Parts: sequence; structure tokens; C-alpha cells
Amino acid sequence: MLPSDKQVFAAQLRRKQLQKQLPLHDLHPKFCTSLTESEMFKFQKFTNKRRLKAAGVGNVTDVPGDKEKKCHRCLKMIERGGFCVFADRFGKDLLWHPSCFTCATCGELLVDMVYFYRNEDIYCERHYADSIYPRCSACDEIIFAREYTQAEKQTWHVEHFCCWYCDAPLAGQRYIAKNGNPYCILCFDRLFSKRAHACDHPRSSAEIQREQVVGALSSLKRFEQGPLWSPVVTVSQSAILNNAVVQGYKLVQYQAVWCKQIN
Ligand SMILES: [Zn+2]
Ligand SMILES: [Zn+2]
Ligand SMILES: [Zn+2]
Ligand SMILES: [Zn+2]
Repeated sequence: MLPSDKQVFAAQLRRKQLQKQLPLHDLHPKFCTSLTESEMFKFQKFTNKRRLKAAGVGNVTDVPGDKEKKCHRCLKMIERGGFCVFADRFGKDLLWHPSCFTCATCGELLVDMVYFYRNEDIYCERHYADSIYPRCSACDEIIFAREYTQAEKQTWHVEHFCCWYCDAPLAGQRYIAKNGNPYCILCFDRLFSKRAHACDHPRSSAEIQREQVVGALSSLKRFEQGPLWSPVVTVSQSAILNNAVVQGYKLVQYQAVWCKQIN
């Protein structure tokens, strides 16, 4: 029996692992933000199949004495006289060391030994689901929609593919990724571009007009950080390389005005 403070810790750890391995929104549609009728249909089909064909619980048992067995995960022998785990969906032919009863994808011990069978191996529910459907990097729900966004080796609900900082929708827009997260061009400049030298470049009326348009669009979003850029004359080379241009110019903010960027 664990001392009571360790029991609390063990319970917290179990809950945390459970949330990761068996997210509620994978288990029941009432925990999903919004499913259309056809997504709901796919959700039900997925959960039925999961229940009938995949879900199981590992059983700890004495190592059978008749013949030597290899652990299905580490491929080392399971010593006689100890314990091992079997999973009924595999019959009694496959055995695991108790410490090897882990998800084939994340390698973590399965909470309460709940496993999901797929491709001759065991998975936590999250990674079982991920082997069948894409998952949204923003809301973490399984994507049942036919259309979704794929970028930076991640997937998103189309409507959840948004700037990581200001939440502006990015579907069909130019964006720049940093650390796997997408940013709208304005936020990217604001947050990550280098500080430029101030200059007093006189602006043409076309420039002023463009500044007003972009300024008005952006006034919906507030930035905590101060402006990083100055009014300048040439379009940044790196902006072109990054494809980070708006109407032919990379637009950045300097005090109240919007300017083209120079490096
Ligand atoms: Zn093993
Ligand atoms: Zn896993
Ligand atoms: Zn989403
Ligand atoms: Zn943004």
C-alpha cells in the first residue's frame, strides 16, 4: 500500500495519462465541439468498430511453464516464475513483460492496461485513432470531415487552421510556420522578425492608401508588443523567399503606419 501522498500523486498521474491516451472527445460526441450529421455518422461507425474489433484489457498472469516465450515488445525471453501480460484479442500466443505492455506508437504504459488492437500490435486509444483518421492540431479532436488542412506535417479542421497568435483564419491565406505552428504574416513580423533601423522615407499616396487598408484590417487585432519596423523602400528579399508578401509587398508596422520592409 502506498503512503497517502504517493497515492494522490499516482491518482493524478493516472488521470493525466488517461486524458492523453483516452481523450474524452474520442469517446463520445457530446465532448466534441461541432459535428455535422455526416461527421456524426462516421464518429458512430468508428466507435462501434473500435468497441467490437479493437478494444481490450490486458491480463496479468503467471508465465506459462510449458515453453519459453518471447515478449512481443522487447523480443527478449520472459523468464519462468515471473509475471507476464496477455491480451485476449491475440489469444494466448503473444505475451508481454508487464513493463512492456506499451503503446506501439508512444511507447507509454497503457493506463489500466486498456489497449486497442491494430496491425498486429497494441496502441493507446489516441494512437489507434490516429492510425485511421487525421487529428486536428488545434482542437485535438479526430477529423471526420472530408476536407481538412494539411501543413507542416500536421493536420487541422479547415476552420481551425488559424494564426497561432491572433486566431485569424488562414485557410487560403499565406502564412509562415515557426516551430510547426502557423502564423499570419503580420503576427510573424511582429513576433519574430528582426528589429529594423528607423528611417524617414517619404511615402507615396499609394503607399499611404495601402497602409490605411491594412491598418484598418489589422485594427481588429491588438498586439502587446511594440512596433518593430520602420518605413522603408525595398521589398525584403527574405519576404519573397518566404512567399510572405501581401499584394507584392511585405507590410510591416511602424508606429501608426504600415510600410514595406527592408532587411
Ligand atoms: Zn519485454
Ligand atoms: Zn500511444
Ligand atoms: Zn479542430
Ligand atoms: Zn496573426
